[in-house]
Formats: sequence, structure tokens, C-alpha cells
Amino acid sequence: MSLDKVKRRDFLKIMGWGGAGATLVGCDMPTTRTLEEGKEEVVSYLAPEEYVIPGIGVWYASTCQQCSAACGLHGRVREGRVLKLEGNPDSSVNAGKLCQMGQAGLQGHYNPDRITKPMARKGGTLTEVSWDEALAILDKKTGTKSGLEGTRAAWVTGAVSGHQAVMIDAYKASLGTKDHYVQEVVNDAVWRTVCKDMLGVSSPRLRLDKAAVVLSFGADFLGTWGSPVHFATEYSKFRSSPRGSLIQVEPKMTLTGANADLWLPARPGTEGVLALGIANELMAAHGVTNVPAQFKGLVKGYGLKRVSEETGLSVEHIRRAAKMLKKSGPSLVLAGASAQGHEHGYQSVVAAMMLNIMLGNVGKTIEAGSEVPFNQMRANAGGSGDIIGFAGALDKSAYDVVFFYGANPVYTAPDALKMSDGLGKVGFKVALSQFEDETTAMADLVLPLASALEDWGTHVSPIQTGESEISVQQPLMEKLYSETRGFGDIMLALLKVRKSNAYSGFDDYYAYLRNAVKNMPAGTKKKSLSDDWALALQTGVLAVQGQSGRLNSRSVPISMPEVSDDQAYPLHLIPSARLGLWDGRHANLPWLQEAPDQITKVVGDSWAELHPSTAARLGIKQGDAVNITSAHGSIEARVYIYKGIQKDAVSVPMGQGHEAYGRYAKGVGVNPMKIVNPAVDSKTGEMALFATRVSVSASGNSSDELIRLGGSETQVGRKLVATISADVFERTEGGA
Ligand code: SF4
Repeated sequence: MSLDKVKRRDFLKIMGWGGAGATLVGCDMPTTRTLEEGKEEVVSYLAPEEYVIPGIGVWYASTCQQCSAACGLHGRVREGRVLKLEGNPDSSVNAGKLCQMGQAGLQGHYNPDRITKPMARKGGTLTEVSWDEALAILDKKTGTKSGLEGTRAAWVTGAVSGHQAVMIDAYKASLGTKDHYVQEVVNDAVWRTVCKDMLGVSSPRLRLDKAAVVLSFGADFLGTWGSPVHFATEYSKFRSSPRGSLIQVEPKMTLTGANADLWLPARPGTEGVLALGIANELMAAHGVTNVPAQFKGLVKGYGLKRVSEETGLSVEHIRRAAKMLKKSGPSLVLAGASAQGHEHGYQSVVAAMMLNIMLGNVGKTIEAGSEVPFNQMRANAGGSGDIIGFAGALDKSAYDVVFFYGANPVYTAPDALKMSDGLGKVGFKVALSQFEDETTAMADLVLPLASALEDWGTHVSPIQTGESEISVQQPLMEKLYSETRGFGDIMLALLKVRKSNAYSGFDDYYAYLRNAVKNMPAGTKKKSLSDDWALALQTGVLAVQGQSGRLNSRSVPISMPEVSDDQAYPLHLIPSARLGLWDGRHANLPWLQEAPDQITKVVGDSWAELHPSTAARLGIKQGDAVNITSAHGSIEARVYIYKGIQKDAVSVPMGQGHEAYGRYAKGVGVNPMKIVNPAVDSKTGEMALFATRVSVSASGNSSDELIRLGGSETQVGRKLVATISADVFERTEGGA
């Protein structure tokens, strides 16, 4: 049976256009027979295309896959090799900019540790096999021929969107499972839940460019929150005339904190208390009356004295934050990692959102935004709760087969979750991967992926920019390794086995995408050009008619628990994400290993940040090696002492400490996730990432030194960089 016998509505689902509602009416049933676009003639490069001029680069548009923001990129290709990546000006997400992780995408592509052939576990070790053999093994475990219907299967991925998500969903349906764990340690999942609960939309558009003051509770929007590139471009507008003011509340200074006018190191877990204290001050000293009724009683209980005691911040600083918010408007209040990373993370983010309602920001700096009209294509941004959920399912031996793609739970999961033991209970594990990481090393079947620069795809950014766009990913060069395959092509091969009626008509994933774009339902395209595909390839963007949400402010009753002391483990562990290694997925890229941390300037290592007074109390000096111990284990790192961390906290960056993942990652530094207590936010189930208590003590190990670019914190009296006092800055630059 061929595709032309598939019902029209089913066809739209297969193509990813399901959920477009009324717009489906105008869609013609397409032909799927003319797929010759998917076939290419291979010619020797001795006779290149006429537009190929030796020594002259040609730029092609595609989509960055280094994080889930789906920024548009341009790749410079010369003599058949991609040499340089830049931002695509046509993308509304990144407007022509690309971050260092995006730039380093080249090193994922040319990485010497790529998997180049399928591998299957034989006699306990992974052994190279042919694709035919690999697919035959997979078919035996899951295929229609084996009669193993009812196999208990699950998918574990990172954030997914676009046609990749459509194909995963179709394959899951064919296996009779809905289980899909979307694991992202660095996420804004609690913020999204609170937005949905209090504003009626989960991804409102945040207008930094319209704000006069931004108050951020732990949202490192210039580094790791949402889309760093998108927010950096919006931030530049926020800081241009008239210059907006930024207040950052967090226990460890992030890239955003380093740019703030007022940096407030609240005691970990007290971000919500501070939000209530600022609300109290706005009511008491600035006459703000627009307090949701359900919050009034709660806010009244958080006077300056109590809030100062609980947060460790001075009364003066709390007053100043409230004054800055009231003095200029409109403002924008955000809440991210450190605010959400506790058992009461949801309450803290709700308290921050209440400030937006009180200050009248909803509708001004928080807009409803609009999403692509196809439910199937929208971004599934995921979260850390899915790591805990997956570990729980493994504990109950819930699966016979698990597929992994873009996630490495053996590395990211805390040791306390016993992820490796749990995976041992899964009969058959399939990894679709470019590299051998900690999870791939446990797989029974490894299917080698083409790099993101060799592959086709479509992606939808979780970031609301005001434009509804589908980003197009196209290969920038031929595959380096002939035995690797694109993700879509692998999925198509799997779907052809299980649902040949629907998918046998497509020669390859390119042909599938080509047909999908050609048959996008009428009324959903923004530009009615005769060949949208050519335009999409040229611009890297498919503009579609967005579906607008509607803001509907409402309050959510909360209570705010106190943060208790722990005598055995007196410090709070801050496993901090960085623009660079991120959650560890970029540790195998030398450029990012060599790039110094933006704050401490440490290169290619792990370190533990301590406040000078804490270090003095513990008798620890700069560069000493220390053991950081929680109830779940211990890690060792050298100490970096400085004032950009709260006195009750110790911070160790995420991303290092790999036990696999290639020559550049293996054996470098330590992984703080290993000693994290896997407690969860009581409302959302997200991992309470900043709630682990630890003790710190000198280990006595003095064999290595911490390598830092720059070496010295001072100008040694040479006045190389002019500095002014905060008071003078305030008077002359209007910083507060
Ligand atoms: S923010 Fe993410 S998608 Fe955008 S350039 Fe950086 S790594 Fe790529």
C-alpha cells in the first residue's frame, strides 16, 4: 500500500502538520510519488559546480544544534568543507549572532572521537557491525516480524522539536508507548509552569528591550537561561539609551550577575523570601496597592527585618532594590536556576511572578507571544524531573527497550539515583549518538549519527520572539564518514519497518521534509511564494502564521518555608551551569575546554568557589584542594576564593568529570552532579538542584595547581583599567 492511500488527516500528521485546526481545510491531498528531489548524482570534485570557485567561500543557512534554542546559523563552505559558522541575520531567535558553543559546533563535526560505524554488543563488548546487521538486531527486538508486540519501550532524549519530534512520536506510537523522558538539567521548567499557572501561557514573550529595570532571581539569561544569544541581543537594547538597570539575585555570581548594577547574594533557598520582602517594601514605602488578594496576608508577614535575617542581605539593599523597581518603569521580574532549585522552588518563582503582577508588568514587558500552529512541531523543552522519573521507572524494571538520543543520563544523574544499576535492568538499550559517552558505553546497539552540520531537520525554538518560525537545518557538506546516518534517516528506516503504509513512499528523510514543506496546510504559511522550499533553504527559516496566546493573570496561593540549618553539612552546594561546557555535553570540544571561565578565568579544570570569610573560617587558602562531601558522596577540587559567592555556599561548575566522552573530556575535573541529593521541587517534580548540603574540608592534596588565565586579580597599582567607586558611578551613570 502506498502513501496515496493514506487518509488526508493521517497524512498531515505524518508530515508534522497535525494540530493546525481550521487551517487544514485548505490542504490538497498531495502526491508522494515524485520524490526525485531526494536523489542526487554524485560527481567528482574535479568537476565542481559552476558556483564553486576555488578559494572563495559560499555561505549556507542551517540551524545550530549545540543547545535547544535553535539559533539560525550560516556556514562558510569552501572546496566542499565547512570552515566557519556565524549567526543567521534572518533568524528572529539570534538575529545574526552565535555564541561560543555555536561556534564550537565545528569541533563536534570534525571531532576525532566520532563513532563512525554501527556497533552491537557481542560477548559483552561493543563490536562494529554493518547497518544491515544493526537494523536486523533492532528489528528482532522491536520489529513487526518478531511478533514482539507489546514490548515495553521508552525514549530518552534532550529537548526536541520539529520533524525530529514528529518522527519520535510516530515511532513511539508504533511501539505502543507514550513514555518519553526529555532530560535537560539546564532548564527553565519551573518558570514555564508558573507562567502557565499565573499568566495562562507557558512561554510568554519577555520584552527586555521595553524594560527600564530588570530584577532577576537566579535567571542567568546572558549565560544559560533560555536562549543566551537571544537575550544578549535583547539585553543590548535594554542597556542602550535610556540605560536600563539590572538587579541580579543569586548565591553565585553568573555572567548575568557580573553585568548587574546591583548584585544581591541571597542565602540559597531564600529567593522567594526576598521577593516577598521587596513586595512588602513596595506596599509599605512606595504605595503599591496592586497586590493579589491571596498574597496580601503573606506579604505583610515579610517585613524588612525578618527578610534581612533570613536572606542575609542588608535592609539597605532590600530597600534599594524596591526603590529601583518603583523609580523607573516598566520593569520585568524573572526567576531561574537558583530560585527554582529547591524543594520550594515553585513557591519562590510564584513570589517573583507576583511582583510582575504588582508592578503592572503583565501586558507591558510580558506579552502573550505566539507559537507555531502545529502542536506536533512545538518544542518539548524538558527538564531535570525526567531524570528522576526515568530512574524511578528503571528501579521498577519498567522497560525492555530504551532508545537514547541527545541525552546522557548516566553522566547527568546524581549517583544516588543509581542510573547505571537501573539501566542494567533494561534488556536492550539503543543509543543514537555521535560519540561514545557514559550512556552510549552501556548500550547494546549504537547507531552512529551524522553531525548536525551533515544532517537535515527542522526545529522550533522554545523562545518566543514575536515571530513564528520553523528553523531549517540543511547539510553544509557531505558526510565525513560514510557509515554514519542522519537522525531522520534512521527514524525513517525504523518507521518503514513498523508502518510501511505511511512511510515506504519516502526514499529518504530529505524527501520526507521536502514533501512536508510542499504540503504545508494552506493558511499557515506566511509568505505565499511559489517555491517555499528554495526560500527556506536560502534563508534557513520557514515563516508561519503564529497562534497567539492570551494573558490572563491570576494568583496561586503559596506558603514560604524557612531554610533550616544543617550542622553536619553546613554549606549549600551550587552546581553551576556555564555558557561553554553547559551540562557537560560540550566537554569534548577543545575550544570550549580551552576557553577560560568568564568569571574565574580557570581553564580546563574544575574548581570550588568559596567566599573569603568562609575560607578563612575553614582555614583554607587560595588553590588548596578540598573535599566537598554530601550525604551521597565526595568530590575533590581546588579552591578559588573570591567575593562573588554567598558565604553559606560552595559552587562547583557542571560539565567536567567525564568517565567517557573522548580524549578531550575524559578524566578532566569532577562532576558535581554525582553528589547531588536528588530531592525535588514539591510542585513540579523538577530536581532541587541547589538544595544539596555539603561540608568542605582540606584534602591535603597539593600536587596540582589551578590554571587560570590572567593569574592576578589586581592591577598591582599600575592603573591599567580606570575604576570608580560605586557612589561616584551612581551619581554620574545613574546606576541605581
Ligand atoms: S544559544 Fe544555543 S542554539 Fe544559539 S548559538 Fe548558542 S548554542 Fe547555538
